[in-house]
Amino acid sequence: MLENLPQVGADPLWELLAEFQADKRKDKIDLLVGVYRDETGVTPVMENVKSAENQLANQAASKAYGMLSGNGTFNRNIAKFILGADNPRLHNQRTIQTVGASGALRVLADFIKRLSPNVVIWNTNPGYINHQPIMEGAGLQVSSFRWQDKGGELDINACFADLEDAVKGDVILLHASCHNPTGIDPSLEQWQQFVDFCKRKKITPFIDIAYQGFGETPEQDAAGLRLFVEQIDEVLITASCSKNMGLYCERTGAAIVMTNDEEKLAGISTLLERITRSNYSMPPNHGAAIANILFSNQEPWLEELASYRDRVNGIRQGLTDALTKLGAPSSMQVIGTQKGMFSMLPLTKDQMIALRKDHGIYGVPNGRINLAGLKQSQTEVLAKALIAVLDK
Ligand code: PMP
Repeated sequence: MLENLPQVGADPLWELLAEFQADKRKDKIDLLVGVYRDETGVTPVMENVKSAENQLANQAASKAYGMLSGNGTFNRNIAKFILGADNPRLHNQRTIQTVGASGALRVLADFIKRLSPNVVIWNTNPGYINHQPIMEGAGLQVSSFRWQDKGGELDINACFADLEDAVKGDVILLHASCHNPTGIDPSLEQWQQFVDFCKRKKITPFIDIAYQGFGETPEQDAAGLRLFVEQIDEVLITASCSKNMGLYCERTGAAIVMTNDEEKLAGISTLLERITRSNYSMPPNHGAAIANILFSNQEPWLEELASYRDRVNGIRQGLTDALTKLGAPSSMQVIGTQKGMFSMLPLTKDQMIALRKDHGIYGVPNGRINLAGLKQSQTEVLAKALIAVLDK
């Protein structure tokens, strides 16, 4: 069998990370991997998570198997958090806990493949690096539509020009907030244009909400998603607790399927469970149990989350101020208007290499940087380096 083993290259992002770790320069900066970091460069465990874990350790609940759909309390809590506690459509959905949002994406990709095998999934370009392989891994076909214009803003005309090729039954995959990798989120008016497009062309919206509360408040970050839920019968949603609870390695997420046809809800649950059973049976419970404690007393957790958000926004502002002072082009200053941890620098691959080789600043070759990797004291260093590589 192994004679058929293909030569698969290593993941370029992890190769770059290894290069960063081997780099001897003291002032090197890692803007590669998409995790939150504090001012000391650490990805912390939230204080609220630590105290939830203590509580759980003292309770020492059973480790017996759970349900195929995961932790039922978590499923109710996360649906309320995403849709809003008083959303009348809370009755029109089925939620299952998944192995992170990555697991949710795969479960819903399998779900789509079972029901509509020939549809096209419309994905933003640039887009989240794993969306396309996960969809294709389930045997679905993926097409893309442009997202960012040369000035670093949403290219709404290009979006809809490309999407004109979508046909009835196709699926549009959108990021609810903090678009990865561009940080460019639609305004509410632009979200409504996407809703209108889905209605007009009978396209199913599939909303990935991986950063709720990281761009603005959780309510604001879900506002676009809720427009779809309010106006469209069938909506697919994937969600992550990796960023807003810092539960990355606990692999805690959810998949939600919405429909007004209540007779279909039981069948939806059965199919979702059948899909998880043939993959990994059930998700791990620990992250969901922590999340339930955070959901049950939200204020301290949301305050801690706000401090994360404020730090990233402070970095954005600091970098933008430094770029403005240095007379950077507006396509760079626009970073200040973007949301979440990521932005795409308007730099070529060679300029990104120069940033790495000449300045010890590591970003993804396509220009993506994780602003949370930066300390407030380094914003000026980065701004100067960006100006310096512009003529490379
Ligand atoms: N969707 C998007 C847009 C993401 O950026 C990420 C994580 N980087 C995920 C999904 C996957 O998140 P999880 O860690 O929950 O699998």
